[in-house]
Amino acid sequence: MKLVIVGGVAGGASAAARARRLSEDAEIIMFERGEAPSFANCGLPYYLGGVIEKRRRLLVARRENLEGWYRLDIRTRQEVTAIDRQAKKVRVRNLESGEEYEETYDKLILAPGAKPFRPPIPGIDLPGVYSLRNLEDVDRLHEVVTGGARKAVVVGAGFIGLEVAENLVHRKIETHVVELQPQVLPPWDREMTLPIAQALEENGVRLWLGDSVVSIQRKPYGNQLEVELKSGERLTADFVVMAVGVRPESELAKEAGLELGINGTIRVDVHMRTSDPDIYAVGDVVEVVHVVSGKPIHLPLAGPANRQGRIAADHIFGRDSQFRGVQGTAIVGVFGKQIAATGLSEKLLRQLEMTYEKVYVHPYSHSTYYPGAQQMSLKLLFDPQDGRILGAQAVGGEGVDKRIDVLAMAIQAGMTVFDLEESELAYAPPFGSAKDPVNMAGFVAANVIRGDQPVFHVEQLTDPLPSDLFILDVRTEREFATGSVPGAVHIPLHELRQRLSELPRDKRIVVVCNVGFRAYLATRILLQNGFDAANLSGGYTSYVQMRGPYPGLEEMRSVQSWHS
Ligand code: FAD
Repeated sequence: MKLVIVGGVAGGASAAARARRLSEDAEIIMFERGEAPSFANCGLPYYLGGVIEKRRRLLVARRENLEGWYRLDIRTRQEVTAIDRQAKKVRVRNLESGEEYEETYDKLILAPGAKPFRPPIPGIDLPGVYSLRNLEDVDRLHEVVTGGARKAVVVGAGFIGLEVAENLVHRKIETHVVELQPQVLPPWDREMTLPIAQALEENGVRLWLGDSVVSIQRKPYGNQLEVELKSGERLTADFVVMAVGVRPESELAKEAGLELGINGTIRVDVHMRTSDPDIYAVGDVVEVVHVVSGKPIHLPLAGPANRQGRIAADHIFGRDSQFRGVQGTAIVGVFGKQIAATGLSEKLLRQLEMTYEKVYVHPYSHSTYYPGAQQMSLKLLFDPQDGRILGAQAVGGEGVDKRIDVLAMAIQAGMTVFDLEESELAYAPPFGSAKDPVNMAGFVAANVIRGDQPVFHVEQLTDPLPSDLFILDVRTEREFATGSVPGAVHIPLHELRQRLSELPRDKRIVVVCNVGFRAYLATRILLQNGFDAANLSGGYTSYVQMRGPYPGLEEMRSVQSWHS
């Protein structure tokens, strides 16, 4: 068996290593256009910021080990330029010597990844405008950030843009982030991203949200660039980093006539086999199926790429491994805050017109009596009929990752919110709570389905309020004084039983507290006394996350001027 692999990083290197573990006899050739196989793309922003100090740390699987341990024929700085499917050959260009040659294959795995999208903005090809994908890119940027640059504009507030922004701040570079959508991390639900936007601003990153770059020009004097935004703002920068998403590198497949999927991806079956049974494709270049929606998507993430590489190799060597699909589990952290998600977001559920219900909880990372507990916000999306978990997002300090990982496994296992009530999770005061945030989300969601706790959502609080709604705030006097839902009447929880006569019986009472727990108790009192009551999910904390000012938007700019 002669196996040829195009692309030698996440998907390609995983496939090569797995192939060797399954076959001592196979000839395995791995072509990589760049200078090194199997480097850590995900670590690039942290090397830029000096968090990863040594460049060699980015070379996760060393070439000598890949060659020595796995007996791989690794050909770096060599680009596959064409596939001849009839003759089962690839055409290769040696980027050092310019020499071209052909290599035959029995089976071919395409793992070419995805390239940064470069929108057709005037000035995008000017020196000083970068993107970040590989070691060559990071070397160029590293030279700039360590060479005295003081101001940067990052275009795009996705996870790569935000990681780059954080790391530029570590290098004491004044950093502006421009994003077309009115939020950071656009695929995620906006209210969950507010703490991340706040952390960025608190640490000096200037956000320009709901805005876009219309041109980049060289300043008449000196080497600086001027970035013109649609809003008319002009930002001065020593350099610009474009991070506005990626596009699959599917040109080889397209020219070879392989079937393509959405957004120019390569279509594959569960074994990662393309429309040609001798050609497989894995990683950022392929179309995948979302396990919750059942719909095809493009999800360029490292976990799926690595798993798919193994599956392709398995199938080539006679095993029936199948890729289960993706569920979009992802995490990003900036300045000590983490945000993570799994499954479908509320945005996507709406777009797909799927029926869902949601709850918000705001628990702590571990027992509050043990020092250092950090609050998180956890949003759980589920099927209101059978309780199947559809998605979850969490944002906060430590412990966000662990909860989303638990929920990711719950989604993969097809679990319901009732299973979350019963989940037995590791607990001691420094690590969690006897009722873990995952249990809490399960309790609240299960209460909603059982009818023990009807929920009301912030977006249902229209202005003006419907006349059949009555807002009741059950927090303390002091909490109420700091702000509440407009029009709320205040009766603290401990006085509620004595003051029921003050409440209307012909209206729906929406109960508000800080995070939803006291409102749950109040809702139970009211329901058992014959009132129509519902809990404002997530309480005043969720209200502020949805309705409060979001840094970087136009209204904020009117009070603060960040002109360069
Ligand atoms: P890649 O790892 O991109 O490898 C493809 C390789 O193929 C490239 O090196 C390319 O040079 C080579 N190639 C392409 N065409 C040819 C050709 N014709 N001939 C020869 N070689 C070719 N994902 C996460 O899940 N978490 C993260 O935190 C995260 N952080 C990231 C940070 C950055 C800065 C970047 C750029 C990506 C990050 N990702 C992250 C995404 C993750 O790196 C990718 O999903 C993953 O690397 C995809 O693997 P792949 O094998 O499909 O492609």
